[in-house]
Amino acid sequence: MSIAARCGSCRRELPLVQLVQPGQGFRCLFCGFAFAPGYATVAPGVGARILATHTALVTALAALASMTGGRLRLDQATVVDPVANALPEATTTATATATATAKEAGLARRKRAHWWARGAGAQPAQQPRPAG
Ligand SMILES: [Zn+2]
Repeated sequence: MSIAARCGSCRRELPLVQLVQPGQGFRCLFCGFAFAPGYATVAPGVGARILATHTALVTALAALASMTGGRLRLDQATVVDPVANALPEATTTATATATATAKEAGLARRKRAHWWARGAGAQPAQQPRPAG
């Protein structure tokens, strides 16, 4: 499982997995653009954590789905939306089409302030969702 990224300077695409080596300084492999100035020593570890947890989440979801069949259906939006909303805008790649629906849903709700932007100490209760 891979996560693609795009350089904010030269616009070329590169896999996140190629940025997780601590010695490389979390820079673009093509143009040398620093992706996390001031955080070059910790950003590779964060990137590695994203890759590991992404794989762990997808693997766990598939495992649970195979155990439960149609007897339990997780609300896809509540799984995908927090991930989509944590990404900055304009991250569209060819592999992002699978999450397009979730991103559109996120765009529709962007007018609301995010819970973390309101200075709240805790995440608010889940909003009721329409069926379907
Ligand atoms: Zn670049």
